[in-house]
Amino acid sequence: MASVMNDGARALGRGGLGAVMGSKNLKAVVVRGRNRVSVSRPEKLSFVLNESRRWIKGNPVTAVGLPRFGTAVLVNLMNELGVFPANNFQYSRFPEAESISGEALEERYLVKRRSCWGCPIGCGRVTRAGGLEGEGPEYETLWALGAQCGVGDLEKVVLANYLCNDLGLDTISAGSVIGCCMELSQRGLVEGGPRFGDADAVLGLLEDMALGRGLGKELAQGARRFARHRGAGEYAMQVKGLELPAYDPRGLQGQGLSFATSNRGGCHLRAYLVGPEVLGIPKMVDRHSTMDKPGLTIFAQNLNASVDSLVLCRFLQFALSDEYFARMLEAVTGVPYKAADLHRIGERIWNLERLYNLRCGMDPAEDTLPLRLLREPASEGPAAGRVVLLEEMLPLYYRARGWDERGIPEPQKLASLGLAP
Ligand code: SF4
Repeated sequence: MASVMNDGARALGRGGLGAVMGSKNLKAVVVRGRNRVSVSRPEKLSFVLNESRRWIKGNPVTAVGLPRFGTAVLVNLMNELGVFPANNFQYSRFPEAESISGEALEERYLVKRRSCWGCPIGCGRVTRAGGLEGEGPEYETLWALGAQCGVGDLEKVVLANYLCNDLGLDTISAGSVIGCCMELSQRGLVEGGPRFGDADAVLGLLEDMALGRGLGKELAQGARRFARHRGAGEYAMQVKGLELPAYDPRGLQGQGLSFATSNRGGCHLRAYLVGPEVLGIPKMVDRHSTMDKPGLTIFAQNLNASVDSLVLCRFLQFALSDEYFARMLEAVTGVPYKAADLHRIGERIWNLERLYNLRCGMDPAEDTLPLRLLREPASEGPAAGRVVLLEEMLPLYYRARGWDERGIPEPQKLASLGLAP
């Protein structure tokens, strides 16, 4: 769960890339340059960017929600919908959500807003707490170091976020494994372990994890290894070893499928089905229905893989359609691209990643979710009584991907993508 940190407080935070750098004794990468990036059709690019800015300024998420509250704008909304997990996903709502919300953060700790270079959205925020100043916390962090650990003390959550940035810890995984440990303590499986709601224990354990001390050394192995080692693997809320982010998929069927099939495990960035299932982007769908979710998941996974390879911020997708990304790429390279080309490129990337995972020994049976989300119905809120209906969706997903019933890409699919061995 070691992040690669950049620009002070920005983290390439998931999957432990910092640990990979560390294993190679690579301390830092410095990039500097004075040349301009040459663009094939500058006039066309400037036209597309002007149009894009208009869409961004006309979209409520990119024009109001993100600039005003940052990603933390999601806390109250997700809690209201009953998809804001608390206490290691034992609950789908957190009673103290209001006190760790974007609104509370703005009122008590915001110093100023911040934007990445040239970005018209500006979702970043500089905060001050406990005599310290830093960036964030983001929505995921407010959840992981807050609700996931039963902590409603916003100041302590802000400080825990600063600490993670200083130590280079992925806040989602760090908070999630502590929440897992708290549940094991609650069940008597970790003697003298931390209890839900103990903010000081969270701060202490973050440092212990980074420095390899005591219980922290065990936790630094991640929730899957930690819980298995304690004979309670089912309480690790993870997929393929990566801890899940801040959405309870029992109230978001499509997001559940996309977590289960994500190539890098429990990640919301491979396919953000919260877009159509909650925000109505690109269109509103019934979040409790499994209908069309395999197709929507594949659409999002392919497009995201493509847009990621363009090195564009994911938040642009709230306002811009696939067609705009194709037009930008065409203007920069001079090579004609259509939206369908981006989806095909993304499909190639997705299949290549799948082949890589399989070759590295991943068992397709890992396309699943923690048992709790499949068997224990949500106990409260609008999703009460529901579990993720993965068994309904997964076979359809495999078929639509052109994979066999075990989840292995069929030779004809690979040939059609130019990936045949
Ligand atoms: S580029 Fe993305 S992350 Fe950076 S300020 Fe803009 S919207 Fe936020």
